[in-house]
Amino acid sequence: MSAALLIHASQLLTLRGDVAPRRGPAMAELAIIEDGAVLIENGKITAIGTTDALRAHSKNTEEIDCHKKVVLPGFVDSHTHPVFAAPRLIDFERRIAGASYEEIAAAGGGIRASIRGVRESSADQLADHVLHAFNEASAYGTTTVEAKSGYGLDIASELKSLEAIQQAAQRWQGTVVPTLLGAHVVPPEFRDNPNDYVRIVCEEMLPAATERKLAEYVDVFCERGAFTPEQSVRILKAATSHGLKTRIHVGQLTQTALELFAEFQPASVDHLDHLSDADIAWLAKSDTVATLLPAANYFLGLSTFPPARKLIDAGAAVALATDYNPGTSPTTSMPFVMSVASTHMKMSPAEAITAATINGACALNLQHKKGSLEPGKDADIAIFDAQDYREIPYWFGVNRCSKTILGGRY
Ligand SMILES: [Zn+2]
Repeated sequence: MSAALLIHASQLLTLRGDVAPRRGPAMAELAIIEDGAVLIENGKITAIGTTDALRAHSKNTEEIDCHKKVVLPGFVDSHTHPVFAAPRLIDFERRIAGASYEEIAAAGGGIRASIRGVRESSADQLADHVLHAFNEASAYGTTTVEAKSGYGLDIASELKSLEAIQQAAQRWQGTVVPTLLGAHVVPPEFRDNPNDYVRIVCEEMLPAATERKLAEYVDVFCERGAFTPEQSVRILKAATSHGLKTRIHVGQLTQTALELFAEFQPASVDHLDHLSDADIAWLAKSDTVATLLPAANYFLGLSTFPPARKLIDAGAAVALATDYNPGTSPTTSMPFVMSVASTHMKMSPAEAITAATINGACALNLQHKKGSLEPGKDADIAIFDAQDYREIPYWFGVNRCSKTILGGRY
């Protein structure tokens, strides 16, 4: 791979700093270089600085003019559910008309529709859908995606889902982090004996995924109607015993004490619509990232959003992600999520950018390679048609990303 020099960026948002999640006032520090330049060699960033400074050292390098552009680290979307076969249009239309969750399920919608779709699809068919989502994400500036299984909910279908993620990852130039979410909901056939399903997840599904090296993380949906805190702890214990890292869906509908999960040192806890003061205090002193998914609140038409301001002001490390999924958040657009974070959760544009880049990288334990523009890191870069970074969450519902560089390739 050859070398390239990005030059004349109106603003180069480096986000250089500690290799650690950013908290409090540090979330608003983007470390901007005006008339900025980035030198890329062999897929890595080897220098950053002003255009004049870098040009002096870089002869015979292909130049990419970023005049009137904002250049920043590619977004890290640390929470997606891309393995599904079809959009959930029954849910969408019926919910608008005021139908309840039960009425949507009775009309053939709801998560059961996604389960059926995944079970009936081949790994190749699912991989095509996943790849489409990855390509769409990178068109909006995303360079790293965490991707969960979770609509198969039997051993074969969960492994097939993880294989689809692996296949799509091999065909995409960005970085993919695969997560087993076998404990998304209790599948219909185990409704009367959910503990039997938990046993299968722990004793069969998780070992099979580990043996085939299909997952880096295990996730569990700890919620009323999904898995209890006790069942979640069993699954997280099994994950840790197999050497897998953990992350948790928690606090979306009801509050669960986060300290219950402290022993697993989850990389992130996600959703967090319902938190106690003790939970916020725990997050403030923990390395676990608080990942907020406000596009789901938006799409469900909710008037409440996770308490981002309280979390940031208390010192928690906040990340933003799309929660891309067919039921509650059918978007791959991180700029849209950042816009909602600013308008509905009162995060400043700078805080939203930090949450979508370096803190997202921390939520995937990739902060040594991703999330900022610094020598030694991967050349994952988004270039926006804008002269001021505040335009990124400002222009919503349109795509201002003009180029995405994935591991030095563009
Ligand atoms: Zn989710």
